[in-house]
Amino acid sequence: MEAGEDCCVKVAVHVRPLINDEKLQGCKDCVTVIPGKPQVQLGAHSFTFDHVYGSAGSPASAMFEECVAPLVDGLFQGYNATVLAYGQTGSGKTYTMGTGFKDGCQTGIIPQVMNVLFNKIESLKHQIEFQLQVSFIEILKEEVRDLLDSSPMSKPETANGHAGKVTLPGKPPIQIRETSNGVITLAGSTEVSVTTLKEMAACLEQGSLSRATGSTNMNSQSSRSHAIFTITLEQMRKLNPAIPSESSINETMNEEYLCAKLHLVDLAGSERAKRTGSDGLRFKEGVHINKGLLALGNVISALGDEKKRKEGVHVPYRDSKLTRLLQDSLGGNSRTVMIACVSPADINAEETLNTLKYANRAR
Ligand code: ADP
Ligand code: MG
Repeated sequence: MEAGEDCCVKVAVHVRPLINDEKLQGCKDCVTVIPGKPQVQLGAHSFTFDHVYGSAGSPASAMFEECVAPLVDGLFQGYNATVLAYGQTGSGKTYTMGTGFKDGCQTGIIPQVMNVLFNKIESLKHQIEFQLQVSFIEILKEEVRDLLDSSPMSKPETANGHAGKVTLPGKPPIQIRETSNGVITLAGSTEVSVTTLKEMAACLEQGSLSRATGSTNMNSQSSRSHAIFTITLEQMRKLNPAIPSESSINETMNEEYLCAKLHLVDLAGSERAKRTGSDGLRFKEGVHINKGLLALGNVISALGDEKKRKEGVHVPYRDSKLTRLLQDSLGGNSRTVMIACVSPADINAEETLNTLKYANRAR
């Protein structure tokens, strides 16, 4: 992706392999990838995307280089970016992003981002001063929960009523704010300053663990919430190294200051509310999640429509917490990649079709 390139949203499809569970159920592979083309077929439906990985598509290992590495490069040029993993529960979103604290943690997108980021910083640190911050939050039922708050690793899970709760009692809710120059900030959430890969990896692990233990039922909560791991990169470049200057992040005559952030989002499961449970409470959660995914679909679709963009059509960022939070990193000068995750199993054909349709609309 080049800086001046027209379309700011890329869509990739990732078809994971059949998992043991599906094989045991006797599932058949129903997703056909046209070799050498970014095309997917499901029954009579055929879709073309920017990239297709897995199955007969490109190898999954190419995904990082083609879809995510350019966004990390862009960060160093001051461009905000967002990577979104979309799909039904069980389609491989957490595995792909690396937000699981077990599998995927080594090979997922986030660990690879960290590697590339720190290698790059290492090679540039003689000319540029860097500062890195990490935050990790979850949006559930239109409420923001801080996944880096307290340290669940070192405290018993029941301390502060942490287990089974969405928000800690007595703590003011986290608020999404917009500064006068359009920068979105999260008031009240933990921002961890990190200087090493190890420190950043510890944040990923802590938050992933907190996400999983924040609910009595691990699968139900994580499938209904959006998890957002955000890396903020600040750079101070000395334009005239001959003149010594105090290190500060303020812009001065002979310094250039750049700040950009990368959001890595493991979205809530895209399956319909009716499938997540029958009781009223669960249905409400389902409705809220649909709100975020619905708003995201509308925002991305508005951004992807060049004609609409040129007419300055309203982009409905304010329709959900998710889109509001991502507002300054979706559209404009920022780069966005949506990775639609699908299972190849025939029992999931209906949801896979829904995912492909959603992803197709984003193009
Ligand atoms: P989701 O987060 O979308 O609910 P997960 O990432 O938890 O889905 O994946 C569901 C299951 O499929 C997990 O057991 C995971 O290990 C497995 N899985 C997902 N993607 C892959 C992949 N690319 N290769 C092998 N196994 C995978
Ligand atoms: Mg998951």
